[in-house]
Amino acid sequence: MWRMPVAAKLAAGLATDRGLYVPKNGFPEINVREWLRLTRMSYPERASVLLEKCIHPLDVSALDLRRMAFEAYSSNFASEAVAPVKHLIHNQYVQELFHGPTASFKDFALQLMPQIFAHCLPPMCNYLILVATSGDTGSAVLSGFGRLRGADRRRTGVLVFFPEGGVSEIQKLQMTSHREGNARAVGVQSDFDFCQRTIKRMFGESGLTGHLAVEYSTVLSTANSINWARLLPQVLYHSSAYLDLCRDGVIGFGDPIDVCIPTGNFGNAMSAVYAKQMGIPIRNVICASNHNRIIADFIRTGEYDLRGRPLTPSCSPAIDILKSSNLERFIYHVSAGDSRLVKDLLMCLDTQQHFRLPEPLVGEVQQELLAGWCSEDNCLAAVRSVHAQTGYVMDTHTAVAKVVADRLQDGSCPVVLCSTAHYGKFAPAIFEALQVQNIPEDPVGQLKKLASTASGPEPHGDLMKCLTEGVRRGHTVCQAEYGVLVGEVESTILDSFLKVM
Ligand SMILES: *Cc1c(COP(=O)(O)O)cnc(C)c1O
Repeated sequence: MWRMPVAAKLAAGLATDRGLYVPKNGFPEINVREWLRLTRMSYPERASVLLEKCIHPLDVSALDLRRMAFEAYSSNFASEAVAPVKHLIHNQYVQELFHGPTASFKDFALQLMPQIFAHCLPPMCNYLILVATSGDTGSAVLSGFGRLRGADRRRTGVLVFFPEGGVSEIQKLQMTSHREGNARAVGVQSDFDFCQRTIKRMFGESGLTGHLAVEYSTVLSTANSINWARLLPQVLYHSSAYLDLCRDGVIGFGDPIDVCIPTGNFGNAMSAVYAKQMGIPIRNVICASNHNRIIADFIRTGEYDLRGRPLTPSCSPAIDILKSSNLERFIYHVSAGDSRLVKDLLMCLDTQQHFRLPEPLVGEVQQELLAGWCSEDNCLAAVRSVHAQTGYVMDTHTAVAKVVADRLQDGSCPVVLCSTAHYGKFAPAIFEALQVQNIPEDPVGQLKKLASTASGPEPHGDLMKCLTEGVRRGHTVCQAEYGVLVGEVESTILDSFLKVM
């Protein structure tokens, strides 16, 4: 069982030596009898039991964890099963992780994490979480923190900066439809890097942080993918997928399965490795990349090489990645906790743009992970052919996983494809894949048209709703200047902590 990192550290999201939190004693292993007991439970019940095993009762009591799990995974998910596993083709299953309020798997972490976060904060301070995003994280963070109530809500706020021209129309509408007191998003006339850099600069300026502490009793914080509290909730759905397959008689407990995961920052894949550590018989964790395949290359060669590798936009943008922030967690894991090695390798990456894993560890990595990548053409062709065969529409990230699973999985056991987003989020690419003619102009019309060609999954209600309502609302767009962004921080603090009811 872990102790929660000291709340102040949790709030900062980062350990001081820039390392990532890794649970000290690993994840608790759970015995077969207990897993079997979980098979008969609902998702929030499974979540409560597993959270209790991982979080020390002095940090969050069992009763509180249960309340939080039921709050996180209830009617805000459009599927009663929360993370349903559906048969796709042959031995392939999809776990639908997009039924949450913002239609990506990030909701699993972010509907729960804000509650744990608020619970563990020391009293007497306000917390403003700053997020830079170019994708699905922004809307998930806004939704999760926006759902806090009462005192938690009055002292925990979130401000998201996104590149005004660097997110899709749908993503922008999802973020800007949030107008609830303690959570807001601001467009910046620059790129993601500028947003990220500016936030880092704010954390580093003691003049600013001191001023916010004295004037408003407010501490700045982060909620990015490197915060460990985001990984634990993801371990739950990987476990749940296995339990569902047992419950439905596809496998018996103890039989192996493979999981195939569209991989960007490696958080989802890392969580599958942790589920395995807890005793879920996952045989292979298969990491799937698109043509930005630095992770796939790393797993296959042991070399992480940023040199001469520009980021090329793709139709699966959530896995367009060069520096994968959870990778160091994984290296820590395969090196049995060699934090010195992890530090050296990262230093090497910083200064020389590449590193090579020592030879014996490359073997260790390949024991844990398989990896492959998928071209744009193959991705769209997979969406098309699965639709033609089954009527089911996969999103482009799920399709990347499908292509890689087709190539690398040997068919000797079931494979669960992690379906990380609803297809509606990536409508233009899906139209291209399905070769649909006469595409409607307005986004709502587009979603309706897609829904009418798909036999599944269901259209996403919240997505449709935010498109319908969001279009008419404006949002703040600010210049790419440090002082202007600081101004937004101050006005959010004034709005959030001094006014919110
Ligand atoms: C964030 C995201 C990913 C990548 O997940 P990681 O945990 O960063 O590997 C994949 N698909 C979708 C739709 C996402 O939003």
